[in-house]
Amino acid sequence: MKTTACSYKLLPLSFFGIFRDWVDVLMSIRIIIVLLITFPISSHAEDQYEILARDAFLISKNFMKSNSANPPNLQIFTSSTGSKCGKITASGFCPADNKIYLEKNQLKSFSKIDPVAVYVIVAHEYAHAMQFRFRFGRSYTVLNELQADCLAGTYLSGKFKSDDVKIKNALRVAWSSGDFKWRSEQHHGFPHQRTQAFIHGMAQSYLSKENGVLSCLDLF
Ligand SMILES: [Zn+2]
Repeated sequence: MKTTACSYKLLPLSFFGIFRDWVDVLMSIRIIIVLLITFPISSHAEDQYEILARDAFLISKNFMKSNSANPPNLQIFTSSTGSKCGKITASGFCPADNKIYLEKNQLKSFSKIDPVAVYVIVAHEYAHAMQFRFRFGRSYTVLNELQADCLAGTYLSGKFKSDDVKIKNALRVAWSSGDFKWRSEQHHGFPHQRTQAFIHGMAQSYLSKENGVLSCLDLF
């Protein structure tokens, strides 16, 4: 009798145990679905910026391959990082460790115009690396920056054809990176100047790769 009673009691307990397991499984699936809906775009997008940045880096590197024996390195970071130039919080080139630093949030922010922004930023920083490497940079900030914009145009001529719609968007990026702080030592050029510098380098390079670079050095 005891055994029967125990069996009687055990049966409903195992049944509810199985039921509870299924509830747990369903709850877990629900949580996973909610997580996938919430986070997929951001994590995927971050990977995309990194892929674009590395592609842009290679394009600039290949363009300068025959001239650069000591190409810069690349580091992509978020928010801030240390370097031989001190703490870095934005995209830039550090001559002391010959490295281009790219800040992900900045790439993301400029990419709202168009993802081609990543190419424009990387090419510009690569140009700074070349200015330092071959010592043709200008001591006056705005001229140095415009020369880098011009060179960025030459590097990207190898990636985009002249009738590519991406070029129009790249020019919008160049325009939006201009500033009006002409009294500041950090003035990088007015929007129209940065755009014109980029167009000049790109247009000259479509005629001749070498002339594109030389014309940037002549003009600035
Ligand atoms: Zn610059």
